[in-house]
Amino acid sequence: MTDLKNFRFETDADGIALATWDMPGRSMNVITEAVMDELERIVETVAGDAAIKGCVVTSGKDNFSGGADLTMLQGLGREYEKLKAEAGEEPAMRHFFEASRRLSLLFRRLETCGKPFAAAVSGICLGGAFELALSCHHRVVSDDEKTRVGLPEIKVGLFPGGGGTQRVARLMQTGDALQMLFKGEQIRPLMARNMGLVHAVAPKAEIVETAKAWIRAGGSGVAPWDVPKFKAPSGKVYSPAGMMIWPPANAIYRRETHDNYPAAKAILASVYEGLQLPMDLALKVESRYFAMILRTKEAAAMIRTLFISMGELNKGARRPKDVAATNLRKVGIVGAGFMGAGVAYVTANAGLDVVLLDQSLEAAEKGKAYAHTLVTGQINKGRARTADRDALLARIRTSADYADLKGCDLVIEAVFEDPKVKAEVVAKVEAVIGPDTVFASNTSTLPITGLAKASARPEQFVGIHFFSPVEKMMLVEIIKGQATGERALATALDYVRTIRKTPIVVNDARGFFANRCVGAYILEGHKMLIEGVPPAMIENAGKMAGMPVGPLSLNDEVALDLGLKIAKATEAQLGPEAVDPAQKKLLVDLVEGQGRLGRKNRKGFYDYPEGAPKRLWPGLRDMQPAHLDPETVDIAELKHRLLVVQALEAARTVGEGVITDPREADVGSILGFGFAPFTGGALSYIDFMGARAFLDLARGLEARHGARFAAPDNLVAMAESGETFYGQAAKKAA
Ligand code: NAD
Repeated sequence: MTDLKNFRFETDADGIALATWDMPGRSMNVITEAVMDELERIVETVAGDAAIKGCVVTSGKDNFSGGADLTMLQGLGREYEKLKAEAGEEPAMRHFFEASRRLSLLFRRLETCGKPFAAAVSGICLGGAFELALSCHHRVVSDDEKTRVGLPEIKVGLFPGGGGTQRVARLMQTGDALQMLFKGEQIRPLMARNMGLVHAVAPKAEIVETAKAWIRAGGSGVAPWDVPKFKAPSGKVYSPAGMMIWPPANAIYRRETHDNYPAAKAILASVYEGLQLPMDLALKVESRYFAMILRTKEAAAMIRTLFISMGELNKGARRPKDVAATNLRKVGIVGAGFMGAGVAYVTANAGLDVVLLDQSLEAAEKGKAYAHTLVTGQINKGRARTADRDALLARIRTSADYADLKGCDLVIEAVFEDPKVKAEVVAKVEAVIGPDTVFASNTSTLPITGLAKASARPEQFVGIHFFSPVEKMMLVEIIKGQATGERALATALDYVRTIRKTPIVVNDARGFFANRCVGAYILEGHKMLIEGVPPAMIENAGKMAGMPVGPLSLNDEVALDLGLKIAKATEAQLGPEAVDPAQKKLLVDLVEGQGRLGRKNRKGFYDYPEGAPKRLWPGLRDMQPAHLDPETVDIAELKHRLLVVQALEAARTVGEGVITDPREADVGSILGFGFAPFTGGALSYIDFMGARAFLDLARGLEARHGARFAAPDNLVAMAESGETFYGQAAKKAA
């Protein structure tokens, strides 16, 4: 076959074809219309040429493929809208359905074409690409460190629509299959083999040969489920065994999603219905759900924020274009406490040299020991080797002498949250570093412009705000002070990219972006408590609204005394009206009256008994000035309050120019504090609801609960003009 652009196709002396997927000009293979066209031709060639016995599909790149091009799926939605306007709903939907199941039909044709296909996979093989592998009759994966297979569609609000739900459910026990589809995890080679997802694991250099050997030895071109009398591993749906699976599956779905994720529900329905049907019909059922899910606002919102925007930010969408790439080699970290230790670990883990400095060598060593603990945890899980730990620790040099910071390309301070201490550190660091070295502060509350006053070169001064725990949290807020220069910003972005986290760039203001929204969420929890809402209802309302944890639980993680400290500092700087007196009293009672500091001393809104799950502190009831009858509490309103209060704060940051790009507020709100991911983030929540509807909702809450629900002018104007945050940003960019 000639004129293939995305594949190489050759047949060996034994009549075994090898299709090598290797898209020109791309670092990663992705399923596009052109790829589907060519794969179709390959399948027909293999099927129709008597000299070809079978075919191995592999990749010419380090990775197999990341799956389907999600922008192609977005394009389907646009086609639908266009056709609907021109020809009406029904033809538009029919076209949409046929187009959205093209991949599924192609994979089914491959599976039933009569010749054996084998996939030889190394590196990443996810989503639609793994569905391609699943439709092959045999799967060999490499034992390479980087090899991962899986169906992560659920993470962007989609579900596997290329046969994934049906094939996985016929390869594994139903419970395991549902778990795999719900979690969307990336699975390592040996695990994949143990789960029955792949047949063989081989060294990278041997995967193609191993796959060919399977065909040569007479491997069958009939999928197990196309053999008459096939039985799924868990047996029939309507059977005593089936009844042990489906009722709990339903309950687990509710517990995990609170019915916020249509894609998860579609997985459940698709597997349930599909397992009662022969494969072709089952695939058609899956396609119907897929088409439905593709058109949900949850999928649109999640794809936009968690795939497209996040990808753009990771690739440097906000990096000043005319600053040459910085070549970071050595990073100094001052303050080896809780945050500094985490920053040292992620920096060294990315291969950079670190100088970790504290007031004493002992304190610095203690910070370094944290890296030792983290890698040891990895080793125990089989995810790292002793040699990796040795190499990583060798990159962290501890010190108590500022002179050791000489030669650093970037210095990050994570010392006590005290402007005086920070100013002293700035002076000491600037005395030894070169004129080009960028200085960053990890402050969580102090405006960068103020801190930069202590600097002799404020244009080289920037905020790099990590979230705790540093090794787990993927977001980093980069704060531009008034004087911060482009080079400092570019350096900060290059650094965040090197440590493989996602940056958002915000302008300087009290609380920056994330902590303002989080603070509003926590305050709303406090307000509910003070009103007399039962604590368990507050926490459940948070989770039902889509937040990972309730506001009281979140406050325990952050620490109650920190909240009180910030409230007192705010009061001192901005006056008493800047702090809610009832909230302050609650915190004073808890922290000063009861010694309850949060998880850190095992006493906060929750108790943290040794060896048992946390539970709400029974004494909390006595801290509440009033008690409402739970029957009278409107849960739907609690849920609205908890999201609306955060979204309003996000809208204010736009109005004030703290956030200049809606992508950053959305990505930042999901990665930074888990804002209900199905909404697409704090601004998408407003955009998808419509500013008008949101404003009505907020005004209702304002009337009942007070001025914190007052909408900022920019939002009111938006409701009047019918615009969206993204629409406004696009207009500004044009
Ligand atoms: P921490 O108290 O655990 O650590 C501070 C460290 O700085 C201590 O080891 C201390 O010995 C060291 N230090 C103090 N003065 C020093 C000096 N002059 N020279 C060298 N070292 C000095 O505090 P932390 O929680 O790691 O917070 C550090 C910074 O990070 C603060 O600005 C804080 O606001 C910010 N931050 C904290 C969090 C969080 O969740 N804890 C999150 C984001 C940002």
